[in-house]
Amino acid sequence: MGNRCRTARARYDRLVHAPPLTITCDCGAAESVPYGERWRCGACGKTWDTAQIPRAEYEALLHGVRRYRLLVLGPPLLLAGVLVPLTIFSGVQFAFLLFMLVMAHALLVVPMARRRATARARERMPSWNLRPE
Ligand SMILES: [Zn+2]
Repeated sequence: MGNRCRTARARYDRLVHAPPLTITCDCGAAESVPYGERWRCGACGKTWDTAQIPRAEYEALLHGVRRYRLLVLGPPLLLAGVLVPLTIFSGVQFAFLLFMLVMAHALLVVPMARRRATARARERMPSWNLRPE
């Protein structure tokens, strides 16, 4: 590998979006780059291409992100889909119920899902070696 290979590392601080890849250049400069895009280092002029990362490996990474997003956004949307029509047609007590359930989800389920996703990400933090062009 030698010192001409550098590591692209996935970042997990923005789990809600497709995680950008952090490329560290030979010269030490680092940049977050979306998958599939090229980055030309401003300090030394080397070009790094994240498309060198196999798509299947990046997709595997996205799978974990999507599962987390589904767990965080799915239940509140589902509850709203059921309880908002009930509020309109049957009464305001269902709006209160919706509020309580969404709060419970946000306080109980979301922190757990976040902890689990972060732990899993740390365990299997993927990194790839890129070649400059
Ligand atoms: Zn550089």
